[in-house]
Amino acid sequence: MDIRKDLRNVLDKYGYDAIYIRRDKRFRCECYSERSGGQSRTDCPNCFGTGFVTNIEKVRTRRTISSVPESLVRARKNFEIGNLSAKAYVYYLEHDINPKEGDLLIEAEWKNGVPLSILEKNVISIADPQRGNKGRTEFYQIYSYFEPVRESDQNAISYN
Ligand SMILES: [Zn+2]
Repeated sequence: MDIRKDLRNVLDKYGYDAIYIRRDKRFRCECYSERSGGQSRTDCPNCFGTGFVTNIEKVRTRRTISSVPESLVRARKNFEIGNLSAKAYVYYLEHDINPKEGDLLIEAEWKNGVPLSILEKNVISIADPQRGNKGRTEFYQIYSYFEPVRESDQNAISYN
């Protein structure tokens, strides 16, 4: 049994493209200022409000409605609770994506493989590696919460 292959087959049939926004935590975005108390601009056109230099990747995924109690999601994330929505999704990502908490998963409208606009912005609250018998990561289960999509985010996907 090869779980990686199984997931690949599932994504072939039922998956779709999404945008993975990976933060490079070595580099702060230029909107981030120590002087302003370490706040990044939520309307930054470069970093999707994350405060870090970001890389945009196209990933294949599939999602289901989250059944995890919100208290768990809340307990395990280091973010303000303000933006947390009652509705949340679990995403499935292949083993080589290596997702991290605080990165973003974006649902987009596509044209010819290029993202036209952002439909939904999800912040990863838990990136849970699902391991096989020998401890190998077979795939990732991602818990996320919504953040409002801003005009600046739309700019960021075309800017980057
Ligand atoms: Zn920024």
